[in-house]
Amino acid sequence: MAVYSTINPATGRTLATFDEISDSALQSIIASSEEAYHSWRTRETTDRKTILARIAQQHRDSSEELANLITMEMGKPVAQARGEVELSAQIYQYYADNLDELLAEEHLEISGSGTAVVRTEPIGPLIGVMPWNFPYYQVARFAAPNIALGNSIIVKHARNCPQAAQKIEETLTSAGLPKGVYINAFISSTQVADAIADPRIQGVSLTGSEQAGAAVAEVAGRNLKKCVLELGGSDPLLVFDDADLEEAAQAAAANRLFNAGQACTATKRIIVHTAVYDDFVSMLAERMTAFEPSDPTMTETNLGPLSSQQAAAELDEIIGQAVSAGASVVLEGGAAEGNEAFYSPTLLADVDPTMDVYNTELFGPVGVVHQFETEEQAIDLANDSPYGLAASIFTEDMSRASRVTGALETGMVWINSTSKSSPELPFGGVKRSGYGRELSHYGFNEFANKKLVRNT
Ligand code: NDP
Repeated sequence: MAVYSTINPATGRTLATFDEISDSALQSIIASSEEAYHSWRTRETTDRKTILARIAQQHRDSSEELANLITMEMGKPVAQARGEVELSAQIYQYYADNLDELLAEEHLEISGSGTAVVRTEPIGPLIGVMPWNFPYYQVARFAAPNIALGNSIIVKHARNCPQAAQKIEETLTSAGLPKGVYINAFISSTQVADAIADPRIQGVSLTGSEQAGAAVAEVAGRNLKKCVLELGGSDPLLVFDDADLEEAAQAAAANRLFNAGQACTATKRIIVHTAVYDDFVSMLAERMTAFEPSDPTMTETNLGPLSSQQAAAELDEIIGQAVSAGASVVLEGGAAEGNEAFYSPTLLADVDPTMDVYNTELFGPVGVVHQFETEEQAIDLANDSPYGLAASIFTEDMSRASRVTGALETGMVWINSTSKSSPELPFGGVKRSGYGRELSHYGFNEFANKKLVRNT
């Protein structure tokens, strides 16, 4: 059964299909991963750093090929795809550059007498379950710190980006990563569960939907395996009446529409002070119209198709329901005739909690605006979401920014800008956005054995 497929969303054409592997092939992969782990964990740190730096370079050397692949498989505009390849390279390079510091022993003073140290060591083979929206970057967030640490990795990538999935393994191996340290596996959800339950596997990291996260966490919990979840978001962006409205409108439009709105940390709810609401909303709508769906292979394209026609149809349905229930359309977008995967920017207002759009993660180029009168109302609206990934605050008043930051139930807050991932910054959320952190030293320590050594 061919279930991993490259279907170009810009054309709807199926270009390649791949079979899932058998259960016995999965057993061999787990055995290879475990074998590779035992030698990789004892490799000199300098070797691991050299290989990570080569992986970064390999991404840069193959940037065009890598970028074109994801443009073809999930429709990302090629300029954004090149940016994703570069960010992935930076992540591998960051862990190469900082590995000595990340592995440094921590010395502890013991009251009374003596000292102890905490070492940072790997724990073993891990499974990564990855989504299609940032095929290279999401993998880099998981793979780079764990390869640096000495863990081995098996990745089950999304079924709509199989060629990118294979290309990652090829890129890492051709940069000198020993066979078995990183393995791409075309497996089913049932096989993911089998792998998590296998005693040789020590942990799992998933980026994706709540449903997938809950399924994986359930199996991980039952088998006492460490689990990191980076799930959805419905990030609020708060615009106070003293904000630079031009800057806030530009940032909100760009962040909402980047990657055709298919990002967990996209600005999905824009919460605006009543005094500036009308001005701000017209500025935002104007800036959103500068994004026109077009051919993602062209460098100037800033809005490509959604990942599939089905994704666009589901988005259309939930918006249609909201409009029927009384939501107003500030900017009318919707699916293009002829190829419904192309979806024009849409802006909704008058959305209330009885509508599905209020609580659902809108994974496409659709923004929702709300208004508030008091700071307390702004905070309540921002926190009235099952998710808690990132938030943005636009204001000139830094004491207010600090106060509001403290009240927001999110894992990340950006003041006078929107979220932007960087290798040095921890990434992750609270509530139904998941748990654990990726990137920085926090991501490095998620699958580490913090080994206490007390020498009396
Ligand atoms: P999924 O969460 O279904 O897919 C993400 C990854 O999880 C894929 O590799 C998928 O595999 C895998 N997966 C799904 N179910 C299971 C399971 N039970 N056990 C193990 N692995 C599983 O996302 P979709 O692509 O279906 O997108 C649906 C929605 O999820 C989006 O509209 C968006 O709201 C959210 N999402 C959020 C992302 C984020 O960045 N936080 C990324 C992607 C989606 P397979 O492809 O084989 O199904």
